Amino acid sequence: MLRRLSFACLLLLTAISTAAAVRKVDLIVTGGTVITMAGPNIDNGAVAIDKGDIVAVGTSSDIAKRFAGTDTIHARGSAILPGFVNAHTHVPMTLFRGIADDRDLMDWLQHFIFPAEAKNVDRDFVRWGTRLAAAEMIASGTTTFTDMYYFESDIAAEAKKAGLRAVVGETMIDFPVADNKTWDAAVAYVREFVTHWRGDRLITAALAPHSPYTVSRAHLEQVRALATELHAPILIHVAETKNEAAQIKDNTSGLSPAAYLDSIGFLGHDVIAAHGVWLTPEDIQTFAKKRVGVAHCPESNMMLASGVAHVVDMRKAGVSVGLGTDGPAGSNNNLDMVEEAASAARLQKITLGDPKALSARDVLEMATIGGAKVLGMEDRIGTLEAGKRADVIVIDLQQPKTQPVYAVESAIVYAASGNSVVTTICDGKVLMRNRKVLTVDVAAAVAKAKEYRDRVVRSLK
Ligand SMILES: [Zn+2]
Repeated sequence: MLRRLSFACLLLLTAISTAAAVRKVDLIVTGGTVITMAGPNIDNGAVAIDKGDIVAVGTSSDIAKRFAGTDTIHARGSAILPGFVNAHTHVPMTLFRGIADDRDLMDWLQHFIFPAEAKNVDRDFVRWGTRLAAAEMIASGTTTFTDMYYFESDIAAEAKKAGLRAVVGETMIDFPVADNKTWDAAVAYVREFVTHWRGDRLITAALAPHSPYTVSRAHLEQVRALATELHAPILIHVAETKNEAAQIKDNTSGLSPAAYLDSIGFLGHDVIAAHGVWLTPEDIQTFAKKRVGVAHCPESNMMLASGVAHVVDMRKAGVSVGLGTDGPAGSNNNLDMVEEAASAARLQKITLGDPKALSARDVLEMATIGGAKVLGMEDRIGTLEAGKRADVIVIDLQQPKTQPVYAVESAIVYAASGNSVVTTICDGKVLMRNRKVLTVDVAAAVAKAKEYRDRVVRSLK
């Protein structure tokens, strides 16, 4: 009897000590190949998430021993990755998707985009455009996007509602635009905008002077000073086209766009340069030294025939390079980061005549931790590691188009697409589960997009 009792006590004690060792967490994603982007992949791995943060990454059995999830997402046959970071886009332009393709940049801008924007863009427009874009981004695994447009505070509000992380840059340009009719109005807007969003977990407000050819030297200097004062990042298009490089050269007695920006003290670690197609070897060294990040947009560069950025040289020189889709109107035309990664790899291969130029792993890195570094957010996002924000996606590799899997990175980049993403989690919140987007009314956004299409067509007649 005594022996039986002590055995029962032992059992009880074991149960108590096991229960004490198991920590309750909000969510566990388990059973897939975890691509941490911070070390080797973990087969049959898991990620434990609590209060918006990653608390542990390990094998499924290790995580099961240490944690119990209030909610569990099973990812067998799938890859578990950090959410994608889109380093350059203009999300409300989803409502102009396909408005005028296959044209020269200036024809496209002057005859379609600028008039269409002048006649249609207001707060409602950017809000609906951001909803449509948010649905698309969530459905294709993007958890952080970097935006340049107008009414950016409204874009921030929509991003937050959808549960997405965003670096949102209010466009500043030397002519009247949809929201701010003067430069001074833009400066006042930016001050209020940056102050309003300060300290937000999801939103980082930024200044977005459009480019070195549409903003004067005095205004660029003012932006630089204001960004330093407000501790806000700067988003800017730099060296996108040959034309731009020629124009700046003429106006500055021989400087490249990047050298010009450097000569006026504009460059720094807080500057995110979109495109950088026409950077010279000296510019690349300058960017590395000044820690300027580059948002490489291969599909936009191909679509608008802008040229091919020297991505391999930039990476070798130590420049942080992320991937951006650019706007979805005539320069892409979607926000699919898987497709963007594949394009980035293929474009370097054909240009350099070297299939080894950029690997599947390289471009996945650019789509995740590379983008995080460009944004100066590598301490929070871009890899799956304990202590980082829980931005996690699950990519289904069981579909015919991705089977069989010999190398998981290759399956994702060269065989899957954004549609292969089945689950999207940002800051610990599940935004899409089993392909169902939970935080955006997708049907309403699509219906509104159709309405806007008719309105835009009428406005251009
Ligand atoms: Zn752009």
